[in-house]
Amino acid sequence: MSGRNIPYKTYLEESELPECWYNVRADMQKKPAPLIDPATGAPCSAEALSHVFCDELVQQELDDKTPLFKIPKQIRDFYRMFRPSPLIRAYFLEEALGTPAKIYYKFEGNNTSGSHKLNSAVAQAYYAKAQGLKGVTTETGAGQWGTALSMACAFFGLDCRVFMVKCSYEQKPFRREVMRTYGASVTPSPSETTEVGRLINREHPGTTGSLGCAISEAVETAVSTPGYRYVLGSVLNQVLLHQSIIGLEARAAFKKIGVKPDVIIGCAGGGSNLGGLIAPFMGEKLRGEADYRIVAVEPASCPSFTRGKYAYDYCDTGRICPLAKMYTIGADFIPSPSHAGGLRFHGMSSTLSELYDQKLMEAVSVKQSDVFAAATQFARTEGILPAPESSHAIRAAIDEALRCRAEGREETILFGLTGTGYFDMTAYQAFNDGTMSDYIPTDDEIKASLAKLPAVGEKC
Ligand SMILES: *Cc1c(COP(=O)(O)O)cnc(C)c1O
Repeated sequence: MSGRNIPYKTYLEESELPECWYNVRADMQKKPAPLIDPATGAPCSAEALSHVFCDELVQQELDDKTPLFKIPKQIRDFYRMFRPSPLIRAYFLEEALGTPAKIYYKFEGNNTSGSHKLNSAVAQAYYAKAQGLKGVTTETGAGQWGTALSMACAFFGLDCRVFMVKCSYEQKPFRREVMRTYGASVTPSPSETTEVGRLINREHPGTTGSLGCAISEAVETAVSTPGYRYVLGSVLNQVLLHQSIIGLEARAAFKKIGVKPDVIIGCAGGGSNLGGLIAPFMGEKLRGEADYRIVAVEPASCPSFTRGKYAYDYCDTGRICPLAKMYTIGADFIPSPSHAGGLRFHGMSSTLSELYDQKLMEAVSVKQSDVFAAATQFARTEGILPAPESSHAIRAAIDEALRCRAEGREETILFGLTGTGYFDMTAYQAFNDGTMSDYIPTDDEIKASLAKLPAVGEKC
């Protein structure tokens, strides 16, 4: 890399680890719509939410005014084990693409959970412990969130009960064993241990489960077990708040090397990594201090931003969680089996949904086989085997870099590399064997799913 005056990796010092999380809602003129209690049709009160979530997290969830939240010392100490994470200049990928664009990525895969999800897991476990709780419940689809939460609970001495979507439980035994190694109990969902699980099993015998169904089981267990609360790894405002550490570090690292990104790209499942990566940049944009193009990338098989509707919807199949106003393709929509399990949620963070609705960000959808072609090119040039979810962002970053080549533009591109894909080798196998499918839902399928949206959407 002679003649390259910008280092391959830019690290912050441990002492430069951000002291506060940043709450982008504080700078939004028009705020994201509130969560609605399905029982009353009114915005959820802190009291109602406190039966489901830890008290401190309820405060964070509802607060759309305070810009900065101090990160408690014990959480910062935990972050030190794997943060600050590097900002990496993808010199070799740029060379392979023959592009004048400068590509950077923020790498979040440097911990055993293999993804950014640990950033929020440790915060949520900390607040549960501080409240004197015995344990937490959650769901996991592909397994990254369950792994991250198991690690955080082991650290703080909390019991961790994970409902794992049955097909993943069976197909990803290694993920399951990582969670058990960290002391979590893992139950395949739908299970016979909850009312909602028994109901779903009765109505759909032999079902292999869904994320929405596992959420319902985890929430039911939390509210019916003394000393337990439910925690969620994406979608919620509190999760985006914790994930802002990614963007704050990225911005500080860019300042260090005197660079400013033009385009910021992230994959979007429930929106937590993207919301965290863009937070401080979006803040500058909202305050009129700087401008950036911000691009969300979603799978063509589960296109909430690009083909969904902005409306109130349920977050779970069991319909026991609060309603959120978001871009959604419907809580009953069952996306075709895809290898990016972390991007199969039907909805999207309400904060990102509002920003997208205000046209402060863009969205694209990409096909699975194109995603794995990008993943393979990245693995061969940059030396990291990316998670299928992260590879959606890689696809879009490569497409932007190729556009820059065609237009002869030297733009600076930043994307979030959310994790590694070592537990996803059956996906890579399908790609390598040429058996990967690219199912994209038809307009009729999406229309049928959207027809079932709850009526509260009409009033808002
Ligand atoms: C869960 C996950 C995602 C998607 O979740 P978001 O909340 O949208 O960030 C992306 N990448 C990886 C590696 C994940 O584990």
